[in-house]
Amino acid sequence: METSVTLQRAIDLACLSPIERRTERVSLSDAAGRVLAKTLASKVDDPRFDNSAMDGWAVRAVDCDIQKPILSITGTSKAGGETPPVVAQGEACRIMTGAPVPEGADAIVMVEDSEEFDNTVRILGPARPGYIRKTAENLRVGQEALQKGTHLGPAEISLAATMGHGEVEVVVRPKVAVISTGDELVPPGVELTAGQIYESNSYGIAVLIERMGGQAVRYDVVHDTIDRLRATLDSAARECDAILTSGGVSMGKWDLVRRLMEEEGNLSFWRVKIRPGGPPLFGTWKGTPLFGLPGNPVSSHVVFISLVAPWLSHCMEAHSENGPTIGDRVKVKLVEGIKGAPGKLCMRRIRIEVGEDGLTASTRTHQGSGNIHSMVAHNGLTLLPPDTDAEAGDTIDALWIR
Ligand code: AMP
Ligand code: MG
Repeated sequence: METSVTLQRAIDLACLSPIERRTERVSLSDAAGRVLAKTLASKVDDPRFDNSAMDGWAVRAVDCDIQKPILSITGTSKAGGETPPVVAQGEACRIMTGAPVPEGADAIVMVEDSEEFDNTVRILGPARPGYIRKTAENLRVGQEALQKGTHLGPAEISLAATMGHGEVEVVVRPKVAVISTGDELVPPGVELTAGQIYESNSYGIAVLIERMGGQAVRYDVVHDTIDRLRATLDSAARECDAILTSGGVSMGKWDLVRRLMEEEGNLSFWRVKIRPGGPPLFGTWKGTPLFGLPGNPVSSHVVFISLVAPWLSHCMEAHSENGPTIGDRVKVKLVEGIKGAPGKLCMRRIRIEVGEDGLTASTRTHQGSGNIHSMVAHNGLTLLPPDTDAEAGDTIDALWIR
């Protein structure tokens, strides 16, 4: 077991115990939020045929070189309609946006630039070849436009559909148990008695898991007895691919997750050089990877974001650029000075704003690791290296949380 490791070391160690990546085929309409398991190639050209970008007239550009030519109308080309008639010299074919450009035509005149009378049309504006969308100018058949490991969002889903894929191969969502521990915790909504507080971590952590393309399974709060904890970890190890606990990983007498993992589990590391969120642990319980997140609400979120999320990405073989992320690494200019942490990567909550000269960051609320409101009032985390303070006006690395 290693203690007090850097964040990168913690990620590397956790990645030695991944969960098995399985894949499944799902209908495209069920694929949102999933991680693509196989690179997708287009089954079609896009566009499939030369088509008009405008409602108007398909013409021969040379016919429109003279002032206000009058062309005779040959027919209509509509999207999804029959093959339009050939456009010969002196002719124009009515055409709708997306409709195939008839043979013979090489330019489009917008309907706004024309006047129709009898069976002819007077052309009053330019005939533009650029209003023809050329076959395969977006995608060619066989082009690999969606890479394995891509997180499927709205645009990716539409692209998969454009390429002709009604079903896609995705990574089976890892089933992750979320177990909160602590005698003081009760679910929100019930009446509190003396000393009790509402349990909050499991709710937010479950959302983070789902955002990463996983499936969260929330367990009832485990009170601070080693037998209850052991029994719950056993069920979770049977039912899920990974376990996240919160609370009980510090030095206190009731920090039972740490004790149980030390005595009966298989610990890989304990404590990471980060602030907030110093005391997490990782190991396996009956072969199932287990992260012990700290109980302080901000710490549990920060440890998920900085440690669990990269591990989940690794397990799902998510694409380093297009995979699911919770935050984007950005440079921000500090409005005020921020104190770093001795020997630890310091992740203070900051409010990132888009200004005229780029991103600026300031702090709003109390920064305590128990104050989950600070994760709402702010939308970023500093990434201040160990033993580094930053002054107002400094540009620093930060994580912009979405
Ligand atoms: P622990 O790590 O168990 O000592 O918990 C540290 C602090 O976080 C204590 O103030 C706990 O009451 C609080 N805490 C632990 N677990 C949760 C939870 N699931 N929801 C909200 N607060 C928690
Ligand atoms: Mg506790």
